[in-house]
Amino acid sequence: MISYEKSLQLIKQAVADFQLSSEVCAVEDLSGRVLARTIVSAANLPGFDNSAMDGFAMKANAGSGQICLPVMGNIGAGDVSHLKVGEGAVQIMTGAPVPADCETVIPVENVQIQAGSDGLPAHITLQGPVVADQNIRRAGQDVCKGDAVFAAGQFIGAEHIMMLAALGILQADVLAKPKISLISTGAELVDDASVSLQPGQIRNSNQPYLAAALQNWPVQSTQIKGHPDDRDGFLRLLERALDDGAQLVISTGAVSMGDRDFVPDALRAIGADIIFHKCKIRPGKPVLFAVLPGGGLFFGLPGNPVSAAVGFDFFVKPALRQILAQAEPAREMARLVSDFTKRAGFCLFAKAVISTKDNQNHIEVLKGQQSFRIAPLLQANCWAELPEDKAVLRAGDLVRFHRFYGGVL
Ligand code: AMP
Ligand code: MG
Repeated sequence: MISYEKSLQLIKQAVADFQLSSEVCAVEDLSGRVLARTIVSAANLPGFDNSAMDGFAMKANAGSGQICLPVMGNIGAGDVSHLKVGEGAVQIMTGAPVPADCETVIPVENVQIQAGSDGLPAHITLQGPVVADQNIRRAGQDVCKGDAVFAAGQFIGAEHIMMLAALGILQADVLAKPKISLISTGAELVDDASVSLQPGQIRNSNQPYLAAALQNWPVQSTQIKGHPDDRDGFLRLLERALDDGAQLVISTGAVSMGDRDFVPDALRAIGADIIFHKCKIRPGKPVLFAVLPGGGLFFGLPGNPVSAAVGFDFFVKPALRQILAQAEPAREMARLVSDFTKRAGFCLFAKAVISTKDNQNHIEVLKGQQSFRIAPLLQANCWAELPEDKAVLRAGDLVRFHRFYGGVL
């Protein structure tokens, strides 16, 4: 059986051969997508020198102290002005273009205004010295024409849309959404929540879980209907998934050692390359990873709900991040709140609660670690990673942890 670390290496190697195409995406649909190429700005931002304040624009040598200047006009945001300010001043609003011969803007609150007969400012009296280059946003001060604004691999959020919109960029090349099919196995499963359970039946919770967990990812996931419990039935669903164009298949159940654990056999029957089956982790030891004959990736996650969740977080997610050019979340460590004993020889991903006190992360491993127990997962906010070689861990020991919501993806 291989270690978790080794399994990650094997996934990484296999995913390196996986090719994802790119496609053009309009800015309004870009949120949540990944850029396939660097974006270079074709424009300056701001596009022109403009005022950062409501006030009066003037030359830097306009004077100091109680100087009175004539007001030559008024420029609002959106105006085009060819005003020459000369020895006077011009009233200017935030965002309005600063006249070519002005070198500074004095905020309205720093001058005294004398209104003319039309009620508009006719003269202003300065209250202090005029300092050059104040309150003017210079063209290109934020982004210069030719700057690379985003690198390939950038995951686009609302703030990126803000920049793209400000630059007037209409579309961008993004990585295509990989097609993922979700397959459930198990004769005991019932998909339809409105149907009453017959003796021995349970509800399918893994497929809705995986579909929901994938919702924030730039992927296209399909829940394949049905839940066969034999090799041929499973192969029929797999074929359906591949006919639909699936590039990744995630199945749950039927990878352990029981009579009905037919997934490894089924994969061998179609000539898939089983990269590993079983890993020294708990829960989820029987996890299987294979490359399908057409080059698609296959993850066989065990059926117990928490095993499926561990399989998704620790095997599927690293593969997806690599496919989508995303970095792994930063490594985080915390001190155990209490002693904990486990079996050596397995890395335990334990439902846990992380909290921070006095700048230190503290982690509490929860009760109810069995892989069928979903309720403790709801109290948890992270997985504690308790190392393979340790049987006894002491309060105060540093362990790695993985936040449930630890980054964009
Ligand atoms: P298996 O991995 O097929 O041996 O299943 C292990 C356990 O997980 C069994 O108790 C199954 O009933 C349960 N199980 C399998 N698939 C699902 C599923 N999709 N949703 C909820 N429980 C499941
Ligand atoms: Mg089963």
